[in-house]
Amino acid sequence: MIKEKKSGQLIVISAPSGCGKGSVINGLLKKNKNMWLSVSTTSRKIRQNDIPGVTYNFVTKEEFEKLIKEDFFLEYTNYVGNYYGTPKGSIREKLNEGIDVILEIEIEGASNIKKLVPEAIFIFILPPSLKTMVKRLKKRGTDSKEKIMERFHTAYKEINEVTKYNYVVVNDILEDAIDKVDAIIKAEKCRVDRIEEVFVDTKEEEVHELLMEDDKEFENENIAEKID
Ligand code: 5GP
Repeated sequence: MIKEKKSGQLIVISAPSGCGKGSVINGLLKKNKNMWLSVSTTSRKIRQNDIPGVTYNFVTKEEFEKLIKEDFFLEYTNYVGNYYGTPKGSIREKLNEGIDVILEIEIEGASNIKKLVPEAIFIFILPPSLKTMVKRLKKRGTDSKEKIMERFHTAYKEINEVTKYNYVVVNDILEDAIDKVDAIIKAEKCRVDRIEEVFVDTKEEEVHELLMEDDKEFENENIAEKID
């Protein structure tokens, strides 16, 4: 009846640091085998929990600037003093294979992606409160007090940008937040603009035949009744 677009969906997820965005995305990847998280390149220092090549590809500031010149990035930004960029690389390839691609990027990058791919799904994750966010950052123990203050100020500004996104999910209870993001992506797959073709798959003669078959079955039932 319906032929859907085969290409995967581009999903852009943003959130201030300390919103548990990473955990939401991990949960989402566990639920969906046909989903891929793009690995960004950054010039920021490696944190304790980082795995090079998995959480990010780490390069120096100079190496990053060289990559910019080589047109390596789909988008990039300077966030809290460090470069972050989405490599063009395998994104188109994955989408063409029908795999959904997640970009975990901040708002400036998301706004650049919106210009390039307006049909992408833009999801913003919020903490239940800014106090919770600061507590989570403190608990993570990877940033200095000054850096946490800087992240708080950035988050304060970022939260006002939420209306530029298509969806907002508050990450209070992790499982609920994962379910909500998952539901958003599944609902987006049913959008009518993802339909490539609508066609009638049954001819009138076939319906006649089906109705005749029903009559025969009915007759047989009657015979059976008589024998009883
Ligand atoms: P963090 O230092 O906490 O890992 O990341 C800081 C911010 O950079 C986060 O909001 C994260 O989503 C964002 N970010 C990570 N990779 C990219 C990227 O490739 N492009 C952009 N624009 N932002 C990114």
